[in-house]
Amino acid sequence: MKKTIALVAHDAKKDDLLKWVTEHADKLIGNEFYATGTTGKILSSVLPNINRLKSGPLGGDQQLGALISEGKIDYLIFFWDPMTSQPHDVDVKALLRLSVLYDVPTACNHASADFLIKSQLFGSDYKSSPEDYSGYLNRTL
Ligand code: PGA
Repeated sequence: MKKTIALVAHDAKKDDLLKWVTEHADKLIGNEFYATGTTGKILSSVLPNINRLKSGPLGGDQQLGALISEGKIDYLIFFWDPMTSQPHDVDVKALLRLSVLYDVPTACNHASADFLIKSQLFGSDYKSSPEDYSGYLNRTL
C-alpha cells in the first residue's frame, strides 16, 4: 500500500539519512515523499519524485506539521541533531509535538528508522489511533 513519508535531517545528520534511504531504497521507492528543502535536495539522488518544501529553518518544519495535522503523512523520519542548537528549535519541537498528537509513527535515529521500515506493519493498512479530542473541542468556555 502506497504511503506518504516525511523525511527531515539536520545538517550533521544528512549523510546518515542519505545512507538510510539508500540502504532501504528498494522498500521506499514507490511511496510518496515530502522533505524539507535541503534534505530533499540531497535525497533526490535516490528518491527522484520527492516533494521539496521550504528549508526547515525557513518554515519547512511547519509545512510538514501542517501536512500532519491534515492527516497527509503516514510516517515521519526525522534525524534531528542532539549536539547542535538550532535557530528553529521551536519549529522542531512543534513538528515532533504534532507527530505525537496525531499518533504518526516517527523515527528519530537510524536504529529506530530500521525498526520502523522492517516492521510487518510498514506499508500495511494499519490505522493509528489519535486520541479523541471532541471533549476538548466542545469544551464550555
Ligand atoms: P533542511 O531543513 O532540510 O532544509 O536543511 C531541515 C531542518 O533543519 O529542519
